[in-house]
Amino acid sequence: MADRPRIVLKLSGEALASSASDETIDAAAVEQLAREIAATCAEFGTQLAVMVGGGNIWRGTTGAGAGMDRATSDTMGMLGTVINALALQDALEHHGQPTRVLSAVQMVEVAEPYIRRRAIRHLEKGRVVVFAAGMGNPYFTTDTSAALRTAEIGAGLLCKGTHGGVDGVYSADPRLDPGATRYDEISFMEVVAQDLRVMDLTAITFCKDNGLPIRVFDLMVPGNIRKALGGEPIGTLIR
Ligand code: UDP
Repeated sequence: MADRPRIVLKLSGEALASSASDETIDAAAVEQLAREIAATCAEFGTQLAVMVGGGNIWRGTTGAGAGMDRATSDTMGMLGTVINALALQDALEHHGQPTRVLSAVQMVEVAEPYIRRRAIRHLEKGRVVVFAAGMGNPYFTTDTSAALRTAEIGAGLLCKGTHGGVDGVYSADPRLDPGATRYDEISFMEVVAQDLRVMDLTAITFCKDNGLPIRVFDLMVPGNIRKALGGEPIGTLIR
């Protein structure tokens, strides 16, 4: 169904945690995200794939910084994203939204393997697809994995939800510089030239090379997922 928008939503692992809870995954935070995602998909008929991060559990650079082998540490990070993906799937299904977790690292007892054409088929059937384990390779991030999957499944937009209170792309870090201004729209070239750290550079250049627009928005404001997926001009559009 060509008239149904196909979108990839990148959720940082930290969006699944919260300051209100000591737990790695805060059930209430996941429930809130799932409720909004399910309602938005029902309203707009969005073909939605979610790339979930793992920073609430483990980051490869943390272990590497402490002397671990980087590839091993990154693999731990990828496994963390699988835990998050299962939590999100569970919450989405509680809201009546059929969901499939597709993992880039094979673990067939808990998730389907990532197969591009299967992901597309799930989307066409109205299932939310949750991508787990990033792209399955160490030295990458889930931001870059989200960019790659956006291209692979022919999605028209990558929505990057932020969770640190920064609601778009700014001329400087607004938490440090009160004079920083938010861009409504900015080009990939400007993001790179000004070294604006909104996503990692690999993800930005991949999207640039493949003509994939990115909308950066504050995930934690209720209603923003609906606005971002519904095409409202919130946050910043990078293209
Ligand atoms: N990771 C990886 N390859 C990938 C995706 C993720 O090695 O394709 C690892 C990497 O160590 C990363 C961790 O998984 O630090 C968690 O992902 P990320 O930091 O992107 O999560 P987020 O910051 O979005 O929560």
